[in-house]
Amino acid sequence: MKINSISANFSVKSYGQNKLTPKKVTVPMPCDSVSFTGKNDNPKKVIILLGAPNSGKGTYARQISENLGIPQISTGNILRKEVKDGTDLGLQAKSYMESGGLVPDELIMQIFKKRISEKDCANGFVLDGFPRTLNQARQLDNILSEDKNTVTQIVNLDVEKSILYYRSAARYTCEDCSRTYSIKENYNPETAKCDCGGRLVKRADDTPEVLSKRLENYDKQTKPLIDYYGDRVSNITVQSKDTPAGEIIDTIMDKIG
Ligand code: ADP
Ligand code: ZN
Repeated sequence: MKINSISANFSVKSYGQNKLTPKKVTVPMPCDSVSFTGKNDNPKKVIILLGAPNSGKGTYARQISENLGIPQISTGNILRKEVKDGTDLGLQAKSYMESGGLVPDELIMQIFKKRISEKDCANGFVLDGFPRTLNQARQLDNILSEDKNTVTQIVNLDVEKSILYYRSAARYTCEDCSRTYSIKENYNPETAKCDCGGRLVKRADDTPEVLSKRLENYDKQTKPLIDYYGDRVSNITVQSKDTPAGEIIDTIMDKIG
């Protein structure tokens, strides 16, 4: 039998009333997070970033991950690595990604389940680019409910379309770690390197043609998630391409902190 927490009556000084009052104190045990009452005593933080392609999900997810000490899970980054490594999964996903379509839910759920079973996800994670369909969102809810967890915060980045095109043209991606950079002009592949030392390259799907296809798919398949999550969504509107990323991340942290 597993013991999740123990309760005991301790005498604890209650400063407000300046006298000793017996209080029930619950001491958590580090064995399992689900208690006998069916309530989760140590719920995971599960943060979703919604937004169109190039809305900045990756950049902000990385910041949130650093600020909260939980990993960023980007299905796009995982897929690009699989493609680069030429794995079976990569081969199956490649054509969908290059044409601006979505990779089938079945493959996505497979990589997602594998990733969240890793140790660093024990306290939660910030999701960037997942879920992207209603089916994925429902499956996510089911998976989380299995250990009495739930999505804790949802942020929607509502970014003006012209900014999405502008960012796509300026975006370069690190070949090794997938970090993205906005490089407006005079790009010199010899000198412009990622902080990790990796080469910065143009992603095959960062062209205006592919972006318009991706935006079409976003409207059809991903936007309905905003209604699915309803009033749990914190909306952040970005109207100018000059709004500093720091300002946006501060607003996000205020909403989810
Ligand atoms: P961006 O950061 O520009 O929004 P991503 O890196 O998240 O793009 O995704 C790149 C591509 O990978 C998508 O266009 C799609 O083909 C595929 N992909 C990533 N995540 C998912 C997902 N959850 N469901 C289906 N396809 C996905
Ligand atoms: Zn890098």
